[in-house]
Amino acid sequence: MHQGFEKMKADFRAAFGTSFDFLRDRAIYDTPLYRFLERMPKGSDLHAHADAVLPMELQVEFLKDHPELVITPDWQIRFIGPGVPYGSRTMKECLEDGLTADDFERCWTIGGAPRNGYVWDWFEGIFTKCGAICTTPALVQDYYTRVMLYYHSIGVEHLELRSPFFGTREDAIARAQAYIRALHKVRETDPLFTLSIVACAGKNDAWDPLFDILMDNAIWVLKNVKDGRYDLVKALDIVNDEDRSYSLARYEERIRSILMHNPGLRLTLHAGESLRGENGEIAVALRCGTNRLGHGFNLYRYPELEKAVLEKGICMEICPVSNAALGYCSDFSQHPAKQYMQSGIPIVICSDDAAYQSRSVLTGDYLAVTVGWDLSLEQLHQLCRNSIDYSFLIPERKRALLKWWEKAWDAFLES
Ligand SMILES: [Zn+2]
Repeated sequence: MHQGFEKMKADFRAAFGTSFDFLRDRAIYDTPLYRFLERMPKGSDLHAHADAVLPMELQVEFLKDHPELVITPDWQIRFIGPGVPYGSRTMKECLEDGLTADDFERCWTIGGAPRNGYVWDWFEGIFTKCGAICTTPALVQDYYTRVMLYYHSIGVEHLELRSPFFGTREDAIARAQAYIRALHKVRETDPLFTLSIVACAGKNDAWDPLFDILMDNAIWVLKNVKDGRYDLVKALDIVNDEDRSYSLARYEERIRSILMHNPGLRLTLHAGESLRGENGEIAVALRCGTNRLGHGFNLYRYPELEKAVLEKGICMEICPVSNAALGYCSDFSQHPAKQYMQSGIPIVICSDDAAYQSRSVLTGDYLAVTVGWDLSLEQLHQLCRNSIDYSFLIPERKRALLKWWEKAWDAFLES
C-alpha cells in the first residue's frame, strides 16, 4: 500500500508539479492519486460556507430541478415572480438554448475572473449572482440534502457549515429547521451523518448594521432549534475579505458579551487570511479566545503568536484550494501551513467555498497538501483524525464518529 501510494504521488508530481489549478487543469481529476483521495475516509469538513458547496455541475443540476429559480440575462439567480427582469430563463431553458455547464462555470466560479482584476471583487460578485439559490426553506432543504449526500459519498460524515441567518427571527428558525429536515432525509441513507452550524456575521461596511441582527438570530436558533437532544448551532464566526473589511477588534466587545451569556458556544474566527504584515487579525482572534482559527494563513509573520497558537493547541482550518483561488498561494509546496504542521500546531484540511473555487469538494484540498507537502499515509491519517478530534461535536458523538472512521480507514487501506 505504502509503495503504491508513493508511486501515485510521484506520478502526479511528475505530471503537474506542485502548482496546479483546480478549475483549469481538469486532467488532475482523472489521476489515480485523486481517485484514491476521493475514496479516503476523511471524517469531517470543519470549514465550508453556505451556500457555496455544491460543485458547479451539481449546482446546474439543482437549478434544472427547480424551475422556481430563474437566471437573469446578467447571470443572477432569482426566485421567479414580480420584478424578475425580462429575458430570464429557467436552467432547463438555458440548457435547451445551448448553454452548457462550462458557461455557468465561467460566470459562477473564480475560473472566470478577469486576469488583471482584484480577484475578491469577482469572488464576492459570485455570491451576489448565486446568493438567491436557497431563498426558501424548501430550497435550503433540497440543496443541503444534496450537499450532505455528496459528503457521504467521499467519506465525510460530519459537516460544520458556516451560515448566516438573515431576515427576521422567524426566517432564521425556518432556515435552521430546513437544515434539520435535510439532515433527517440524509439519515435515511446514512444514519451516522451529523451537521453543526457555525453562525456567521460579516464585517464590511454594508453589513455592519446587520451584525447585531445576525447574532441575535444565531442565539435565537441556538435556543429554539435542536437536532434531537443536540444543539445545531455550535459556534460563531465573523467573515469577509480581511484586507478591506473592518477589523475584528470592532466586534470584540460584542463577541465577548455574547459568549459570556451563552457559555456553551464556541468561536472559530476567520483571521490572518492575508499576505500582509500589517494584518493583525490573529492577535485579536486570540484575545477573543477563539477555539479554532479560520485560515490563519499569515501566522508566520508573527513568531510570538505562532508560539501562543502552538502552546494553546489552537487548531488551524487550512483551505489550500481556496488560498490558491484567491491568490494567497500559487505553489502548494510553499503554503505556510506545512511549517505550522511540522511545528506541532494541529491542522485540519477544509474546503471553504468549493462551489466557486473547484470542481469537487474537499478531495482537492487533500490533493494539494498531499503533493505540495509530500505527505505520508501516516500524516494523512493524522489530518483526517484531527478533523474529528477538533470538531465541535460533543464527546459522545465524537466517539461514535471516531469509531466509524477508524474502521473505515482500515477497510480503505485493505481494499
Ligand atoms: Zn472561509
